[in-house]
Amino acid sequence: MLILIYLDNAATTKVRAEVLEAMLPYLQEQYGNPSSVYGLGREAHHALDIAREQLKTALGAKLAREIFFTGCGTESDNWAISGAAHALRQKGRHIITSKVEHHAVLDTCRALETDGYEVTYLDVDCYGQVSPEAVRAAIREDTILVSVMFANNEVGTINPIAEIAQAAHQAGVLMHTDAVQAVGHVKIDVQELGVDLLSLSGHKFHSPKGVGALYVRQGTPIDKYMHGGGQERGRRSGTENLASIVGMGRAIELASQELEGEAQRLTALREEMIKMARQKIPGVILNGHPTQRLPGNVNLRIPELTSEAALYNLDMMGIACSSGSACTAGSLSPSHVLMAMGLSEKEARGALRFTFSRYTTRQEVEAAVQTLAEIAQRLRK
Ligand SMILES: *Cc1c(COP(=O)(O)O)cnc(C)c1O
Repeated sequence: MLILIYLDNAATTKVRAEVLEAMLPYLQEQYGNPSSVYGLGREAHHALDIAREQLKTALGAKLAREIFFTGCGTESDNWAISGAAHALRQKGRHIITSKVEHHAVLDTCRALETDGYEVTYLDVDCYGQVSPEAVRAAIREDTILVSVMFANNEVGTINPIAEIAQAAHQAGVLMHTDAVQAVGHVKIDVQELGVDLLSLSGHKFHSPKGVGALYVRQGTPIDKYMHGGGQERGRRSGTENLASIVGMGRAIELASQELEGEAQRLTALREEMIKMARQKIPGVILNGHPTQRLPGNVNLRIPELTSEAALYNLDMMGIACSSGSACTAGSLSPSHVLMAMGLSEKEARGALRFTFSRYTTRQEVEAAVQTLAEIAQRLRK
């Protein structure tokens, strides 16, 4: 039987054992509704408080009530952008974002455009990076929000968020960052970054799919997202996904403890993979920034090789990776991220993304490069 080598951790990660263990009581005997007044409900509410505190600590937030639980990273992005836009519509209707954002951000902006808002989609450099100067230059009298991702989900490039937030704040503009790829993997401190809104998602750091959070700095104008029973201080109604929230709290706590060591280990593994790929695959090119990138992201392109053919052959050999984001991998259009970085359509169709996790071993990475080299040699003939 083929052993699976899973190198698609930017798409989703495995729920870790400690996280599942923390969750199980809340799916079984501790099943109370956190809004109920009797003991079972109060215990559930207490578990929510603990998870909120765990996220607060991990992000360096000032108050636990700056953390709002959501249904996923996509919801956090939708809420942050449309919520801030609607709350500030009397002040202005101009939003600044970048061309390389996740579709959760891009499509929310597109929807706002049909609703009377104007959006500037900033260009990026050849590494996929947004410059603070470009943000500063795009700010207008009626700009209300800047939304730039912390780290790109396809090429792993990290943006200078603190500088971008500073540029926004100097003009009195709110700052949101989609940090879904970064939380649990690199150090995030909302005070150092100076952001007002920050999105994260549980399944990108070893908790279940279908749970996320939005950090909202105290005093940030933002409309409520879901109308209903008044959960999450009236801003995001709906009975909380208790077990998953508990799991996400535990996962962020564990990730924070291991962050420094893991980031170091994965950075070394990343560099090793790139070096090995260059030795074994003639003409291979690294997409994205050479150093300012996520520890566990390697995005390669091999001239004359399409992602589609490579992915199919890698899958046959038990290696799971991706061409770009999981969401666009099934679509026919080339990656908007790679196109914005200035790649030709043909080049963009050749990208292969390998993303690591705490479970990724050196042996797996070596086997993946070796297999890819053999596939490339065979297919390029
Ligand atoms: C995965 C991802 C999202 C979406 O998160 P979901 O929880 O899957 O909805 C948003 N932004 C980025 C950068 C992502 O990588």
